[in-house]
Amino acid sequence: MDYEKFFGAEIAGLHREGRYRVFTDLERHAGKFPHATHHHAGGTRPVTVWCSNDYLGMGQHPTVTGAMHEAIDRCGAGAGGTRNISGTNHYHVLLEQELADLHGKEAALLFTSGYVSNWAALGTLASRLPNCAVFSDSENHASMIEGIRFSRAERHIFRHNDPEDLNRKLGLIDPSRPKLVAFESVYSMDGDIAPIAEICDVAEAHGALTYLDEVHAVGLYGARGGGISERDGVAHRLDVIEGTLGKAFAVHGGYITASEKLCDFVRSFASGFIFTTSLPPAVAAGAAASIRHLKASGAERARHQERVAKVREALEAADIPTMPNDSHIVPVMVCDPVLCKAISDTLLDEFGIYVQPINYPTVARGTERLRITPSPLHTDADIAHLVEALSTIWGRIGLRQKAAE
Ligand code: PMP
Repeated sequence: MDYEKFFGAEIAGLHREGRYRVFTDLERHAGKFPHATHHHAGGTRPVTVWCSNDYLGMGQHPTVTGAMHEAIDRCGAGAGGTRNISGTNHYHVLLEQELADLHGKEAALLFTSGYVSNWAALGTLASRLPNCAVFSDSENHASMIEGIRFSRAERHIFRHNDPEDLNRKLGLIDPSRPKLVAFESVYSMDGDIAPIAEICDVAEAHGALTYLDEVHAVGLYGARGGGISERDGVAHRLDVIEGTLGKAFAVHGGYITASEKLCDFVRSFASGFIFTTSLPPAVAAGAAASIRHLKASGAERARHQERVAKVREALEAADIPTMPNDSHIVPVMVCDPVLCKAISDTLLDEFGIYVQPINYPTVARGTERLRITPSPLHTDADIAHLVEALSTIWGRIGLRQKAAE
């Protein structure tokens, strides 16, 4: 086989469909978020970032960066091993305590990333529970899908955010079998929110374990940043709450929180937990500082919500089509992959605004979008600039469409 020819042809296919991924080479500047420098072939340019998952700007918070500096000075760079063989640092232990407390659970377990936590925890639970049937929301993230697939357990997809469909599907399974319901709280691309209490009602009625991904909600919702499950007062009803340390907490890593026994089980059997070097101590220290700060302070959350509302209002006033939802994610709908990429390129090249285009397979074909994530650090001037740029581009598209008619 001509391997190079094969790779080239596959990549050419992505180009043809307008979904070849081009990375934007950014230099973030602590103290200046959301403003950054874009390195490109012709040099550099200043940009305003509108698509970061550092939702609250905690990545530049002096409490977080200070904790990381201090931990590096104390412990050095890396953890020095897997958790089992010399790589459990006291910072990991403290962080796991912090996370268990955040979600009101007995225990927590750290992973290399949110992706790995879903893959490893779901893969382990679903493969080791004898004859387990997994019920997975149709919009679940790739990391959950891969974990379930890896487990080889029987998988049932229930309609997105639909407890009735879940109930129907659970009802078809032998009641004595172990069952696992996996879903998210805030869905990352549409920004819609799960009816957690109703899903828990259904799962409870069928004796199923519940596994909730709160990756896009931790730090952002609830009085202490415990996510939608805290906001809705249902954290105690979930068997597993999974989250990331890389988005609102703005450092890196993933975790699950659950009962002592469930965490011990995953700790003891998940290869994706056991056979890998643990997080650098400074990462654990920074994440713990970020969580502690956001447990005590609601100011970032309040300002975040206010900014989100302001962006939405301004876009609506300018007739830019957004998808309505009750979260902090503002999808601007383009519904064409080539146009979506072209708009993103124009925003960057002409206006110094960076919003990555979101195309298939991250979202369904025909629903391509710009996923805008306002932060507490975006100013009124930043918002006005974004809306003006989008209005200008929308005007041009409208003119082009009229000319084509
Ligand atoms: N779950 C969901 C819903 C996500 O959107 C993501 C990341 N985009 C992850 C898990 C993975 O988290 P991490 O980035 O920490 O690997």
